Amino acid sequence: MIHEILEVDESSSFDDLAVKFGSFLGLPGSAPTNALLRAINDPVYAQNLIISRQSAPFLNALLNDPGNKMYGVEEEKELTNKDLIKRAGTALLNWTKSGFTVVSDEVLEKREDACLSCEHLVKPEKFLQKLVTSKSKDTIGKRAADCVCKVCGCSISKKIKAASEACPVTMPGNPALNKWGEPKY
Ligand code: SF4
Repeated sequence: MIHEILEVDESSSFDDLAVKFGSFLGLPGSAPTNALLRAINDPVYAQNLIISRQSAPFLNALLNDPGNKMYGVEEEKELTNKDLIKRAGTALLNWTKSGFTVVSDEVLEKREDACLSCEHLVKPEKFLQKLVTSKSKDTIGKRAADCVCKVCGCSISKKIKAASEACPVTMPGNPALNKWGEPKY
């Protein structure tokens, strides 16, 4: 049932995502924009929302959390930012469908090593990307926390953790693998 409710594809609009996420949470209409944007950018918040969907008081508290206010769309007028929202929404929903599965520490380090040596690793320029990055630290999983992938626009520290994510670029010289060294699918 979860799979059917959250089925989205690259052509889904932000409004489509809001309607589907609202339905999944048991809301009478679309998920509030700020809450959905926060859920897209903050996996812990997203997980809390989903866990709380059987409890109206908890769900309402999360949907009305003052921390959601910073996730507005006023500054997101450019098409490129809309694309980022769409991609992030698809990534969130794919991760949701995978049951929030995260990779092992070994895979995390391998993915991060690949990103750290990749020419597509860049500092964020867009408002949304700046929101989801943080200061990098010298610990596995946080070494590229201040960077995004130029190709897909994702926050690297979040992308490399989710088992449902994949590097979008082919490994040079090996069309069967992506730059993380994982099979392309
Ligand atoms: S996800 Fe892939 S393309 Fe993007 S920075 Fe990492 S290795 Fe490079």
